Amino acid sequence: MSLSAVHNVLALSILGTEKEHTVFEGECIGQILGMELIRRELGIRTATVGTDNQAGMQALMNPGPGTGRYLVDQVIAGIEKITRTRGERQIRIYWTPAHEGIPGNERADREAKRAAEGKETRGIGIGGLAGPLPVSKAAIVRRQKKMLKKEANDVFTKSPRYERMKAIDPNLPSRKFYQTAKGLPRKHAALLFQLRTGHCPLNAYLFRFKKIESAQCQACQQGDETVKHFLLECTAYRRHRAKMYEVVRPGPKAMQTLLSDPKAVRVLFIYITDTKRFEEALGDMLLHNETRKERK
Ligand SMILES: [Zn+2]
Repeated sequence: MSLSAVHNVLALSILGTEKEHTVFEGECIGQILGMELIRRELGIRTATVGTDNQAGMQALMNPGPGTGRYLVDQVIAGIEKITRTRGERQIRIYWTPAHEGIPGNERADREAKRAAEGKETRGIGIGGLAGPLPVSKAAIVRRQKKMLKKEANDVFTKSPRYERMKAIDPNLPSRKFYQTAKGLPRKHAALLFQLRTGHCPLNAYLFRFKKIESAQCQACQQGDETVKHFLLECTAYRRHRAKMYEVVRPGPKAMQTLLSDPKAVRVLFIYITDTKRFEEALGDMLLHNETRKERK
């Protein structure tokens, strides 16, 4: 059985599921067991071990801290045991990028399936692996993160706001937006988020919450002052918008680009400053490295 395939069996039969352990641990267990198999084959002079575990190979040369360190130590101990008992024996470990074409791999796959069906018991008595391993901290943290992300995703996609925001950014919840917002001063990030959600101090929103008498845009008197109207339609800001369209292609995706793309966001804040629409409430909305001179 090839060593690279052994870990499949072991990850399932010794470790349990990936909820409790990392693939790296499984790979290390495979190597520990492999070394033990080699040690028992007294007739073997040179053993060649193929593994697709680059991290494990690197760890053998330079074992870092990390939660699987105790397993790496066991692999090294296994290698030392082989060379100590029979000094003339050689072990060559090489990296194979895939399992295909390695004799024994099919057998290993069969065994892995058996293990997955629960036909193997946990714990194995060789290579110093007498019982189940302690649960991996890294695996627990990873599982927790995955669960949180899924939960946040579920809550968000079921919220009524989702449909509206999806029109702006179909990839929501968007990592890209958070990356864009993270690089902005707080005031800018907040306004950007408000524009994306529609919850911003423009007349259409203020009217909905009965803060003002009319939803109409006071700059052009030609329609409700929605985010779309303010950004793309208002004729009062036509001149300012022309500058924005040098970076953002006008059209149905313009809103999406303006409110998500980091390059476009810069020009968006120039537009916002030029229109003076939020000046009273928020002051100057130019980003620090934009100067007024540059905008002429
Ligand atoms: Zn208008």
